[in-house]
Amino acid sequence: MHQQELTGLQLIGNSFSAAGTQTFQAFAPLQQQWLPQTFREATAEEIDTAVKLAARAFTTYKKVPATQRAAFLNTIADNIIAAGDVLLETASAESGLPLARLQGERDRTTAQLRWFASLITEGSWVNARIDTGMPDVRQMQIPVGVIGIFGASNFPLAFSVAGGDVASALAAGCTVVFKAHPAHPHTSHIVASAIRDAVIGTGMPEGVFSLLHSTSHETGHQLTVHPLVSAIAFTGSFRGGKALYDAATRRETPIPVYAEMGSVNPVFFLPGILKEKGTTLAEQFLQSVTLGVGQFCTNPGIFVTTKDTAADVFVAGLQQHIAGMPAGYMLTPGILQAYNNGIATLQREGAQLLGAAPGAAQQASPYLLQISAEKAQEHPSLCHEVFGPSTLHISANTRDELYKLAGAMEGQLTATVHGTEEDLREHAELLDILREKAGRLIINGFPTGVPVNHAVVHGGPWPATTPAAGTSVGTMAIYRFTRGLCFQGFPAYLLPPELQDENPLNIWRLVNGKFLNDTNI
Ligand code: NAP
Repeated sequence: MHQQELTGLQLIGNSFSAAGTQTFQAFAPLQQQWLPQTFREATAEEIDTAVKLAARAFTTYKKVPATQRAAFLNTIADNIIAAGDVLLETASAESGLPLARLQGERDRTTAQLRWFASLITEGSWVNARIDTGMPDVRQMQIPVGVIGIFGASNFPLAFSVAGGDVASALAAGCTVVFKAHPAHPHTSHIVASAIRDAVIGTGMPEGVFSLLHSTSHETGHQLTVHPLVSAIAFTGSFRGGKALYDAATRRETPIPVYAEMGSVNPVFFLPGILKEKGTTLAEQFLQSVTLGVGQFCTNPGIFVTTKDTAADVFVAGLQQHIAGMPAGYMLTPGILQAYNNGIATLQREGAQLLGAAPGAAQQASPYLLQISAEKAQEHPSLCHEVFGPSTLHISANTRDELYKLAGAMEGQLTATVHGTEEDLREHAELLDILREKAGRLIINGFPTGVPVNHAVVHGGPWPATTPAAGTSVGTMAIYRFTRGLCFQGFPAYLLPPELQDENPLNIWRLVNGKFLNDTNI
């Protein structure tokens, strides 16, 4: 069947399914109109079938050698590229994001898949530990089962159908039932087709990946409470993440929910650096605030200075530049409404409007607002995420007040400090406080533009994420979908290759307390 004929259908195992009668359409933000294709809402039976197929596939897929799983991931990446410009054009129509940004996002998506392929091919990620005492005890990471994954609206490729959550789950040896974000169903369909072709082409078990379309919270809820689902990965709003977390903990068998729910990503500008290069920083900061119409979970929604002349000049510079920053169309009408409501709430609770950029009807305008440190501490809701191109200035009267403010902040994905060497030495205590607050600490940079590599952490203390121990970006993301299994007293012929004396896979292992990658046990 040709791809165009398949839109609107669920992917259940290797088959497309259209059991439901309820339909929905995606909205084109740039044209401000509904797109013509209709998509079917998944039925309860389709959800159940997808999960059961995934559970059955897991019994086979968990034993597929890593080199074959790697070939599967690489083939998904190849197929995404082979989908060509139609994929980028569809994603652009559904999200309003420019083609150049989506091309970069596609590169990131395929690079993530290939990184996970090379990680599992190398093999040491299983964290094998061998202790040959009495008793002989050996452990390694094993996959946990079926993962329910929710796509994010703001990254229709890199945090969606073949994004980091799916790549890391499949790399770990887990199977996936994916709930597509209703803002980009056609994009989701094209990528799901690329995965399906890879499943068939590389001989993976049917059910290793399924995709469900829905605009109803009920679908996500049913997926989360399904007894055969072992973990959930989510990126989106606090409300959505918390609802799924609560549902998962109320199950008879609770399961982990790895929800990345965004944050305000505070940026602290210290006095010395503002004196030295406040003008340049003002321009760079506003670029970070307004990038992608502010629709990044790492968007700097709050910045903090201490009262002095350099801070006044810096804020005046921001006030001057904000009017010239671009307004833009947001991903969905709901996100625009939430943004405008968020700005109104800030003002109602006492934030003062310092400046804004003009925008057309239905566009999100960049806003610069201000509040005192006392007020910010009186009204913690002022420090909640307003998803979009705005930032709130908090002015602290003293260094103590600055530290108190940092100490009162909720958990964050990132926290940033701009300072000269002298500033940073003088404010070592600030960095010490922020260590407890964020998953990524940044010196003299900006939080937007998450590096995707082996060392990054994209997570953070509650409420930035539910368990703070995970990351949803970078190769460490794989550990969300594994658990340690300890083999005690096992005869050699029953041990997995990763734990055999001969080390047939030549991986790095902790053997009797020493890291080795040879057979020297
Ligand atoms: P969202 O409303 O959280 O939705 C994300 C996904 O979760 C959708 O598939 C949604 O399904 C599902 N969902 C939401 N609430 C649910 C619930 N109570 N039960 C079951 N499923 C639920 O996120 P969004 O649509 O992308 O954007 C809305 C807001 O999320 C934004 O205004 C922004 O604040 C935030 N956001 C944060 C990030 C981030 O990076 N952390 C990214 C994007 C958006 P339905 O279609 O059924 O609602």
